[in-house]
Amino acid sequence: MNKFEKWGPCTKAVHVGSEPCPATGALVAPIYQTSTYAYESTDEAEKVFTGQKFGYLYGRDHSPTECQLEEKLAALEGGEACKFFASGMAAIANAHMALLKAGDHVICGAVVYGGTYGLFDKMLRAFGVDVTYVDTSDIEALKKALRPNTKVVHVETPANPTLKITDIAEVSRFCKENNLKFIVDNTFCTPYVQRPLELGADIVVYSATKYLNGHGDCIAGAIVGSKEFITKGLHEGITKLGALISPFTAYLVKRGMQTLTLRMDKHLSNAMKVAEYLENHPKVERVIYPGLKSFPQYELAKKQMKGFGAMISLEVKGGLENAKALCNNLEMIKIAVSLGDVGTLIEHPAAMTHKSLPVEERKVSGITDGLIRLSIGIEDPEDIINDLEEAFEKI
Ligand code: PLP
Repeated sequence: MNKFEKWGPCTKAVHVGSEPCPATGALVAPIYQTSTYAYESTDEAEKVFTGQKFGYLYGRDHSPTECQLEEKLAALEGGEACKFFASGMAAIANAHMALLKAGDHVICGAVVYGGTYGLFDKMLRAFGVDVTYVDTSDIEALKKALRPNTKVVHVETPANPTLKITDIAEVSRFCKENNLKFIVDNTFCTPYVQRPLELGADIVVYSATKYLNGHGDCIAGAIVGSKEFITKGLHEGITKLGALISPFTAYLVKRGMQTLTLRMDKHLSNAMKVAEYLENHPKVERVIYPGLKSFPQYELAKKQMKGFGAMISLEVKGGLENAKALCNNLEMIKIAVSLGDVGTLIEHPAAMTHKSLPVEERKVSGITDGLIRLSIGIEDPEDIINDLEEAFEKI
């Protein structure tokens, strides 16, 4: 048993990968801001390069600061190993490039982050990989999309921004029966709220830019999975694509992750209060939040998540014009893409994060022109609600 396994998530978030510096005893290990590593002799270098002795090789492959961070996320996720990248998109691209080759086919959730959609549609297609978008909450639709050359299923749950939920355990069974790799983008949840590997996923990907770092001050991404996949499967991409997280960013994410569980508790309780307020608001047409009983997949959300996340989507009565007016009249809440920051953010998916999706696909998936997405922060909940209320009064 791994020595950290006996600890709960709050303890793991604080202590795993946060050992004092072995050279100086500094309680917080320094940032190893170096591009390369020096060896005593060519013989020693050869031993490190051939794997006979542990050592660092080059800053494009790994760094001590990054390795500490990877221990922390792997422990929280319950995964064998983890690799951090320069962005969530770099992590997603590396995961798929390690698994796919020309002639292969991917089944992707119909609602995913616009950048992920662009990666499949604009880039992987150009390299001969075909993709079918499917509502992965419908297992029959998934079965219909299966082809002899299908290799990977990629799902976001809850999906960005419709918050539709995919039953991870059910899709995992389907993937195992058909020898497919199952990737879950767990950005909206973090391992504190949902642990896809325990539910049967093979690989978990993150935009660590969001809740994992939590403070809106860096861009980062991660992949968690088996030791075999992380150390061997990803190897060529790590060394040839060169999209590793920098030591300084790794330090920031590591620092942010120490308070992940505390922040998530506050994000979740604030989101519930804001969702209830919005649901009872006369100027709101529809609120989408997995923690509301009106949410069509409430029971599934309760089953596979611990808490319901802190993302809320809504439609304002009066459509697009009033939705824009709501955003424009806010004072504390900022109009910005990204999510999972300490501060509450609002955005308009059709004009911002999901603009790259064709209009027809947006409509079919429920990303209406009037849909607004809120990322609820950790402020006092009354202040978030008051800011929204004052904006509603002006429309
Ligand atoms: N996955 C999800 C669910 C996202 O929302 C995003 C970005 O918003 C990404 C991946 C891409 O992450 P990054 O912006 O860190 O490249």
